[in-house]
Amino acid sequence: MTVTHPPETDVLRRQDPELAGILHAERERQSTTLQLIAAENFTSPAVLAALGSPLANKYAEGYPGARHHGGCEIVDVAERLAVERAKALFGADHANVQAHSGSSAVLAAYAALLRPGDTVLALGLAHGGHLTHGSPANFSGRWFHFVGYGVDAETGLIDHAQVRTLARTHRPKAIVCGSIAYPRHIDHAFFREVADEVGAHLIADAAHPIGLVAGGAAPSPVPYADIVCATTHKVLRGPRGGMILCRAGLAERVDRAVFPFTQGGAQMHTVAAKAVALGEAATEAFAAYAHRVVANARALAAALADEGLVVTTGGTDTHLITADPAPLGVDGRDARGRLAAAGLVLDCCALPHADARGLRLGTAAVTTQGMGEGEMTLIAGLLARVLRGGTDPARARADVRELTAAFPPHPYPG
Ligand SMILES: *Cc1c(COP(=O)(O)O)cnc(C)c1O
Repeated sequence: MTVTHPPETDVLRRQDPELAGILHAERERQSTTLQLIAAENFTSPAVLAALGSPLANKYAEGYPGARHHGGCEIVDVAERLAVERAKALFGADHANVQAHSGSSAVLAAYAALLRPGDTVLALGLAHGGHLTHGSPANFSGRWFHFVGYGVDAETGLIDHAQVRTLARTHRPKAIVCGSIAYPRHIDHAFFREVADEVGAHLIADAAHPIGLVAGGAAPSPVPYADIVCATTHKVLRGPRGGMILCRAGLAERVDRAVFPFTQGGAQMHTVAAKAVALGEAATEAFAAYAHRVVANARALAAALADEGLVVTTGGTDTHLITADPAPLGVDGRDARGRLAAAGLVLDCCALPHADARGLRLGTAAVTTQGMGEGEMTLIAGLLARVLRGGTDPARARADVRELTAAFPPHPYPG
C-alpha cells in the first residue's frame, strides 16, 4: 500500500521545515502517548480538511443573508448547514454556531440574559465549576455576583437541598448547571423546577456531555434550559469551538450576544468543520461510539477502583472519571507528573472529600482510537503500577508505546 501525505503537509515541509517539524512532533506525541484528558478527542480527517480549507480566508461578520461583508454567498450556505444540522441533532429551536469557544458561548449566554452585577448560582469552582462560573480570575467573577453550590463530601453528588436553599435565599437571575469534572448525569428537571420557583433563567453548560447527548448516551438539557452552551471539540469530536442552543424566543438575543456584542467575524473554516462534525454526529456509527465511550469509562472506573484508587461517586455515567490516588501513596499533582513521564496524559482536579488534588480522566479520545474495555483494564493496571513505583518509567513508557501502536489515531503519517 502506498501512503500519500496530504499536499498541504508537503507544502509546509518544503516552505517551513522548522514548523513542519513541530507539527510532526505533536502528531508523534498524540500517536505514542495515551490521551486521557477528558476534554480531548481526535477529529476525523474530514473535519481537519474543512479547518485547513480556503474558508479560513473569508471575512463574514453577521449572519447568513445579513453580512457586513461581500462575497459571503458560499459561506452562508456552510453556516446554514451547520445551524440546520445542530437544530435537527439536538431538537433545538435555534442554534448559534459562531461562538469561538466554550467560554465564548457562556459569555454570550450571560450577555443575552444578565446585566453586570446580577446574582448567578453555579457549581463552585472547588466542586467542579468552570472558570466562567464565577472565578475571580475570569470576567464572570468580576462582572457578576456568583453564589456557589457544591457536591456532597461523602457521595460526591450535587447537593440538591443546598441548591434549593441557596436559590431561595439569593434569588439569582440565572442558575448554571454544568461542570468540568462531574461524572454523573445532571438532573435538568430538578434545576428547571428550582429556576422556575425563584424566577431564574436556567443555563446548561453542557460543554462536556453534549457529544454524549448527540449520540443518545446522555439525557438532553435542551428541553429544560433556556440556553444550552456547548463546545464542539470534546466528546462531540468536532473542531475547537463553541455552540449555543436555545428556544425560538431567545434566538435574536443570543445571536446579538455573540455578534456584535462579544465577537467580531465568524471563523468560517471552523463553522464549516462544525457542520462536518455535526453531520458525523447524526450517524448510527457516532451513536455507537458515544455508547462505547460510556462503557469504556465504566470499565476504566471499575478497574481503577480494583487497583485501589477512590473513584468519586463510585463510578460514572459519562466519559469522565475523577479519582483520588492517595491510597497508592501519591497525591494528584505528583501522580499527573509521574504518569506524564510514562506517557499517560491526564489532568488534576478538585476532590469533594479532601483538600488534596485528584485525577481526572476521560475515554473520548482512546475510544475514537478503537480501544475497548480490555484496553481500559490494561490502562488502569499500568497507571496503578506507575503510581505504586512498581515499574520503572522507561518500561511503562514502552508499554504505552506498544498499546498505542495497535490503535493509531491518525490515518496517515505526517
Ligand atoms: C470546556 C468547558 C468550557 C470552556 O471551553 P473552552 O472552549 O475551553 O473555552 C466551559 N464550560 C465547561 C463546563 C467546560 O467543560
